[in-house]
Amino acid sequence: MTHDFTGKRALVTGAASGIGAAAARALAEAGAEHLVLVDLDKERLAAMDLPCAVSLHAGDVADEALWDAVEADASDGGTTLDAAFLNAGIPGQPATFAKMSFAEWRKVISVNLDGLFLSLRSSMRLASDGAAIVLTASVAGVKAEPGIGPYGASKAGVIHMAKIAAKEGAPRRIRVNAIAPGGVDTGIWDGVPFFDNLVAKHQGDRAGALSAMAEGMTPMGRFESAEEIAGQVLFLLSGASGTMTGTTLVSDGGYSL
Ligand code: NAD
Repeated sequence: MTHDFTGKRALVTGAASGIGAAAARALAEAGAEHLVLVDLDKERLAAMDLPCAVSLHAGDVADEALWDAVEADASDGGTTLDAAFLNAGIPGQPATFAKMSFAEWRKVISVNLDGLFLSLRSSMRLASDGAAIVLTASVAGVKAEPGIGPYGASKAGVIHMAKIAAKEGAPRRIRVNAIAPGGVDTGIWDGVPFFDNLVAKHQGDRAGALSAMAEGMTPMGRFESAEEIAGQVLFLLSGASGTMTGTTLVSDGGYSL
């Protein structure tokens, strides 16, 4: 994967783990000069070892004060963003609508939509003309599955937010697209009961459990890796996708077909 980000400044949220960490690394390795990294997990964020300058902001993407600080830091240095990957998200605990508590619904919506709104608002404010923004949706926002109501609804919302932001950004040539992964072996599956059960059935082999799941669910018999998603994100952030805006790139081994 060889998109060139030499001298570019980029923001990544959910940067300390999984897809966000892979994308931050890919951006740094593709020449990015400065990365603004946001994550709830202060320790993992501090442990990120990247070959470029970084500004770290530990906190909740749904906390408006965090974004005030990100914007204040950027304006202090008189800087703008060339790229933003707004990726932080949580799945919540599976339950049907009938059995779901309002608190669980609010928790997922808070991170996946409120947090994304605040991330997007700051990114649009900080973006230079011609910048590119990618939002992490999910195949769950494309294909309806029972038991993941707030996750699916929030990710469908993400896909529509990309379309609206694309229209709003177009006069300044700011492109906004979404990426919808199917299943990636990251920390997001930890504590999700059906996956924990599957891992137990595979004697603790997480990758094996995910592979077995993908074999049953996808025409290609496989899901994607965090590094593959990161490569696709860099494509969407780069000039190679220069006429694409408001689209959702689905990367799911054909699961949603
Ligand atoms: P992950 O758990 O490995 O990483 C998510 C990161 O986001 C973590 O470092 C976590 O600390 C951070 N985070 C969570 N809530 C936050 C908050 N409120 N504020 C700031 N940071 C927060 O998971 P991942 O799989 O890399 O997930 C990244 C994105 O990909 C999510 O939006 C997720 O919905 C989406 N996604 C993942 C999959 C998958 O199978 N892994 C599939 C489709 C979509």
